[in-house]
Amino acid sequence: MDLNNIKNIEKDAISSIVSATLEELENIRVKFLGKKGLLKEALNKISGLSLEEKKVIGKEINDLKDKIESYIANRKEELIAKEKEEQLKKEKIDITLPGKPFKQFKIHPLSIVISDIIKIFTKLGFSVEEGPEIEEEYYNFDALNIPDYHPARDDQDSFYIRDKKLLRTQTSGVQIRVMEKQKPPIAIISPGRCYRKDDVDATHSPIFHQIEGLVVDTDVSFSDLKGILKLFAKEMFGEGTNVRFRPDFFPFTEPSAEVAFTCISCGGKGCSMCKGTGWIEVAGCGMVDPEVFKNVGIDYEKYKGYAFGMGIERIAMIKYRIPDIRLFYENDVRFLDQFYNF
Ligand SMILES: [Zn+2]
Repeated sequence: MDLNNIKNIEKDAISSIVSATLEELENIRVKFLGKKGLLKEALNKISGLSLEEKKVIGKEINDLKDKIESYIANRKEELIAKEKEEQLKKEKIDITLPGKPFKQFKIHPLSIVISDIIKIFTKLGFSVEEGPEIEEEYYNFDALNIPDYHPARDDQDSFYIRDKKLLRTQTSGVQIRVMEKQKPPIAIISPGRCYRKDDVDATHSPIFHQIEGLVVDTDVSFSDLKGILKLFAKEMFGEGTNVRFRPDFFPFTEPSAEVAFTCISCGGKGCSMCKGTGWIEVAGCGMVDPEVFKNVGIDYEKYKGYAFGMGIERIAMIKYRIPDIRLFYENDVRFLDQFYNF
């Protein structure tokens, strides 16, 4: 063991420390300074030397121990500083960059149409009522003069839950709920979600929206009903819109009519949207059937009433020329973005 050996250990230590990672530094420390490390080994080896040599080389070994400790400490500090710097570089925010475009959320076309319809009817003195979407069979069918055996039940293939409860197939049940708790005069509309087991296609969806209207008073006639729907048609689709009534059948109104508006696309001349007829069917309506009044305890000798129902998707499709009902439910922003300006 001589000074040369010590020099070699130092060289060896320096060369491994300068290129070491944080993890490697600990191994290096153990290798040189540990209990069984190279310096300990060197100290053991000087026992055979003369006292003078022991003093000189022993001191060299102790000095080298301090040096290696400080080399390791310096390298450690350097590595930590470098790591911090890299992290800062990575997380640096360039405040001169332009901002990302902010996504402004728009109103769903069905919500726009519902709100437009409500505006029109509340201006005419109607109030807005809501009913449950999980409805009792009684309100959805029986009280509306649609008993068990009635074929209208087959037309409305329903989602039954249990205990004579189902997802309502129409908003008409709200008529019954309102007449049960409110005495005439009554003038309400009720927009809401309805459900039927329809297969999905361009014009059918198992979830859809209807709006129901009901007026009950002592002096109400079919011409009032016609007047109200004409007014609505003009407000909704423009001054030039005409309304056509054709006899139809609904269990809860008598007489009943199917309502068509002038085709918004061709103005009545006939086009592909109206299949050449110039008319688009929009609603069903009629005078409240006395049987319905009987079910809710309203004197049908004294009071008369009219009711109407419209599909909200249908109105939105006509108004905004939407070709496929599925677009309402797919939540494709490319579609939804179009309605911002309406
Ligand atoms: Zn047309």
